[in-house]
Amino acid sequence: MVVELISVGTELLLGNIVNTNAAYLAEQCASCGLSCFYQTVVGDNEERLQETVKAGLKRSDILILTGGLGPTDDDLTKEVVAKAMKKKLVEDKKAREMIQAYFDNRGMEITENNWKQALVPEGAIVMYNHNGTAPGLIVESNEKCAILLPGPPKEMKPMFEEYVVDYLKKKNPEVIVSTTVKLCGIGESKVEDMIHDMLENQSNPTIAPYAKTGEVHLRVTAKAADMKSANKLIKPVVKQLKTRLAEYIYTTDENTALENAVVDLLIANNLTVSTVESCTGGMVAARLINVSGVSEVFKMGHITYSNKAKKKILGVKKKTLEKHTAVSAEVAKEMVKGVETVSKADVCVSVTGLAGPDGGTAERPVGLVYIACSVKGKITVQEYHFNGNREKVRENATAAALTLMRKCILEYMTETAF
Ligand code: ATP
Repeated sequence: MVVELISVGTELLLGNIVNTNAAYLAEQCASCGLSCFYQTVVGDNEERLQETVKAGLKRSDILILTGGLGPTDDDLTKEVVAKAMKKKLVEDKKAREMIQAYFDNRGMEITENNWKQALVPEGAIVMYNHNGTAPGLIVESNEKCAILLPGPPKEMKPMFEEYVVDYLKKKNPEVIVSTTVKLCGIGESKVEDMIHDMLENQSNPTIAPYAKTGEVHLRVTAKAADMKSANKLIKPVVKQLKTRLAEYIYTTDENTALENAVVDLLIANNLTVSTVESCTGGMVAARLINVSGVSEVFKMGHITYSNKAKKKILGVKKKTLEKHTAVSAEVAKEMVKGVETVSKADVCVSVTGLAGPDGGTAERPVGLVYIACSVKGKITVQEYHFNGNREKVRENATAAALTLMRKCILEYMTETAF
């Protein structure tokens, strides 16, 4: 069953407000098992709204419209939909009473135009609004249906949850369920190469790769009669992905971010952690500290941006800085040794790099970053070349630092397992 979203409002077209309703509804419709092929934003203009509704009724089974249900002259959604579906507008007694009560309860005088909101297309299911005055409506005609919801999200969402979810589930008993397999330390093209046969032969479930900063997510989505059957379809596919991509997968849990996975590893292995950062300016520490419970393991985080600080706080040698410059594997290594000495943490990480836009040369371009990680004194240093502006380079370096920490901790676990 195909659903189409129509967001009504000139403010949306002008970019004055962000279309959060469409994002919310698209996600909700997917989890109700509906396919959404079109989303339209249209201004408060009768002719263009009529064209949009007519086109939608031709190509989709269900239209969901938000906005334009209010009392003013430019609120046209209900009138346009009633005309397109050949329905007369009639007054709904309960809607009228609720509008009266809404104003009485607030001690406000009701203006004449508010009664327009009590008019509903004949035969429509009326969704009474407990958070505003305009009722929502479900209008059915010739196997098609239009669902009209108010624009304000605080009115639209509760109404959708109270009335529309059940209505959609009855109309379309299928569900769509997704699991996200999250990977780090591997690029999108390599992932696609390693599972290209799975991507080529996919049908139900589907596998969709998404490139994120320093990560790749694989969204495995199944359509089935119920949650249990959908999960049954997803399980073997996730298992196969785990077999092929095991070392890169840090979670299959929607709510777990890379920093959560790193902190979980630290806590599970009773390892304390300290950070020292130059170009990332504390972003690695900030992501770790985002995780509740990190206080158990996090010792200290330094930002040593200047060479002076690198020497004074971490004991980086003047000679090393002069010979190799601050952005070098040698300095990253001395930084990590320095923070290990100062903090006595089991796991330490250092980041030094050229975030740009200035300061790059042909041999040492912007985006060159060195990250060192030590676990119980064993140091690993890696060189990276990131593309993009200053923000992107810093975000990528932060993700790479977390990825390297995870890799080094896993290696330490393997080495100490016997
Ligand atoms: P009202 O009774 O308040 O007039 P309405 O159903 O006529 O409601 P609109 O007038 O179109 O809705 O929009 C009212 C407000 O709702 C907007 O000013 C905006 O703040 C919010 N809104 C409308 N559409 C959207 C949307 N698609 N996404 C997010 N917010 C929206």
